[in-house]
Amino acid sequence: MATTVKIPVTNSNKEITVNTGLFINNEFVSSLDSSEVIQCFNPATEDVIASVVAGSAKDIDRAVAAARHAFKTTWGKNITGWERSRLINKLADLIEKNAQELAELETLNNGKPLTVARDFDIGDSIQCLRYYAGWADKITGQTIEVDNKSKMAFTRHEPIGVCGQIIPWNYPINMWAWKVAPALAVGCTIVMKPSEVTPLTALKLSELVVEAGFPPGVINTVPSLGSVGGAALSAHPDVDKVAFTGSTITGRKIMEAAAKSNLKKVSLELGGKSPQLIFESADLEQAAQWAALGICYNTGQDCTAGSRLYVQDSIYDKFIEILISTVKATNIGNGFDENSSGGPLVSKNQYDRVWGYIDSGKAEGAKAVLGGERRSTKGYWVDPTIFTEINADMKIVKEEIFGPVLSVGHFKTEEEAIALANNTTYGLGAGLHSTDASQCMRVSGLLEAGTVWVNQYNILSNNVPFGGKKQSGIGRELGSYALEEYTSVKAVHWNIGEKLQWPL
Ligand code: NAD
Repeated sequence: MATTVKIPVTNSNKEITVNTGLFINNEFVSSLDSSEVIQCFNPATEDVIASVVAGSAKDIDRAVAAARHAFKTTWGKNITGWERSRLINKLADLIEKNAQELAELETLNNGKPLTVARDFDIGDSIQCLRYYAGWADKITGQTIEVDNKSKMAFTRHEPIGVCGQIIPWNYPINMWAWKVAPALAVGCTIVMKPSEVTPLTALKLSELVVEAGFPPGVINTVPSLGSVGGAALSAHPDVDKVAFTGSTITGRKIMEAAAKSNLKKVSLELGGKSPQLIFESADLEQAAQWAALGICYNTGQDCTAGSRLYVQDSIYDKFIEILISTVKATNIGNGFDENSSGGPLVSKNQYDRVWGYIDSGKAEGAKAVLGGERRSTKGYWVDPTIFTEINADMKIVKEEIFGPVLSVGHFKTEEEAIALANNTTYGLGAGLHSTDASQCMRVSGLLEAGTVWVNQYNILSNNVPFGGKKQSGIGRELGSYALEEYTSVKAVHWNIGEKLQWPL
């Protein structure tokens, strides 16, 4: 039998009850054949706060069968767009009603500041659901003229079917919403595999799925290790599409599994090594603010983290001074402390990984002008660290770190700046700061990235597409573009008058 756990909330007398089973067909159930559990930690204290069932490949089979049944009977083409819209809006309302508790749980398991979890991650997730609820009854095809007298054609944008959705630990609720909302809007059913590092809020959201009134099997959630549940979902012959956010290495494995099984449609939101360019005409105070946000938001655990900064020579010294004092204001602390602007890193793995990069930066000769010192207290702490005197061959410049570690270089000309920015295998985000409008237009056109921010950074909107170029991914999330990821286009050719005479 699946059980529940009561998790005490830091600095309060409150406890949050979480179901620790697998969520299949609107019920929390135990695994068919696995006695493995996933331990969930509080990264600020290193304490274990819960253990949840680790689903097996057989559990994935069961969840896929539930999703397929729902697709064929209660969801898919069996429900109107406005009814889907009503249910998605209901779910958004319930998330809004439970925002405080969801935020507390997110902070306990992920570490991010409570206010950030509640007002940004959850606030945006509610908006995302409402945005796609608006789309649910507006999924239309085209009528296409073929021959005015005897033939016409039209297209139907049909739900692709059962979707596997594999999400990471940096924005557990937000990534859940980005994936679930467009899929539900067009009529797909879902098997969600949350990250094994942060499965708790996806389980809590599953309770709200039942309360909102979704039919059983429409959204199923199977916490599992990536190499078990994630791999099984990507290779499953009865899954029609897999949507993934995470590392490029895992994205490659998912695409391979999809290719070898049933050629399911794949969308991948992968890593980045995003550059920001500071040109001499920029408002330097503002550019420093955006640069600080770019590398410190979510403690740098962000796929679009602006982790490479290139500054024009003429303003370099002045800008570095402003940048250091701006980044210094970041207060990395316990997410339940209202003065914290950033939390710990999410896990011991990430902690070791990020410190490995900081050590390698020092060993390769970069100069740490801020941070780079370990704390002696418990918790996975990394304070913002800025490296200067970098070169293109350093690991800290080439590889995604996923922590608050910024590499700063410089350039003389616009051409050089663009070459430096594009010198990466990634292409997720890029930023440029300049008050020369022609330069902004020119440079934004030449940066190789799925998103370019001009005089700002890392600002997303649910109605604007998001995704990567190069090895940062395939496909787009958000906006109307995400609907295409979850639909398959059927062309219907209709003969309204031609008489065939065979042979031609
Ligand atoms: P990851 O890519 O391994 O994990 C992301 C998700 O993929 C998790 O749900 C995981 O269980 C699942 N997964 C793992 N192996 C799988 C497989 N073989 N098949 C299917 N699914 C699988 O990321 P990680 O190990 O948690 O983090 C490592 C690095 O990845 C980070 O340091 C960071 O650089 C990057 N990362 C990027 C993002 C992003 O938003 N782009 C998010 C998380 C991590």
